[in-house]
Amino acid sequence: MTTTKQLSAFVSEIFSSAQGEGVNIGRRQLFVRFCECHRNCLYCDTPVERTESVAIEQEPGSGKFETVPNPLTVRQLLDLLAGLNRPEFAHDDLFITGGEPLLQADFVAVFLPEARKQLDLPVHLETSGDLPEEFAKTVEWIDHVLMDIKLPSVTGEPEAWAMHRDFLDIIEGEGTGATIKLVVGADTSDADLTQAAEIIRTSGSQAAVVLQPMTAASKTSRVPSAGQVLAWQSQMAVALGRSVRVIPQCHKMMGLL
Ligand code: SF4
Repeated sequence: MTTTKQLSAFVSEIFSSAQGEGVNIGRRQLFVRFCECHRNCLYCDTPVERTESVAIEQEPGSGKFETVPNPLTVRQLLDLLAGLNRPEFAHDDLFITGGEPLLQADFVAVFLPEARKQLDLPVHLETSGDLPEEFAKTVEWIDHVLMDIKLPSVTGEPEAWAMHRDFLDIIEGEGTGATIKLVVGADTSDADLTQAAEIIRTSGSQAAVVLQPMTAASKTSRVPSAGQVLAWQSQMAVALGRSVRVIPQCHKMMGLL
């Protein structure tokens, strides 16, 4: 039997901020950013390497950090979060992000039930949406998933359509709240958008669909034009038969973490 003592995880940051992406923009959340990612998206703007220490915000929203060594046990992570989740900061959710947090799914599956009990906050997960087996280990403790569908014409990486489809099937089977995010850049292909719409439509998912235009702060600056984004919004909305939103990364506009 797995115990909390046996497990540890590599975490890069723990902090408090307002959510900057997707339909939950503006919610005040406690962020846990896990190290490492299995992908290498051209537009990635997040450090994904394994770090020797964890940066922990001293006071929620202060932007001032102290460090403790990696890796963290479940108990250590819970205690650090308890120190930040003080009533005067009124957090809405716990937000698990990365990197790709599902690379450490065995840890997350033990951590989340304890975190739900201790913090009494809904749990949101941000993920690349292409690790369905790992997601299945954790889904019962997740209230909302912000999942990507990765467009190869934008990521510069191989397609993962089947994995995304399996991931959506788990969300549908569990009735988990979800937002599907598609990062779009100047090179986004119609074929990729058609394929993404097809797997969303055939999965039966009614999750909110968001087009997130790449920004100039990305590793590549293949920022799409306003005309491109509006054309893709219409293309996706017609293909899905429902509303598709365009939402940029708002935390960058506000100077938030
Ligand atoms: S999946 Fe996310 S964290 Fe990983 S490389 Fe792509 S953008 Fe970066």
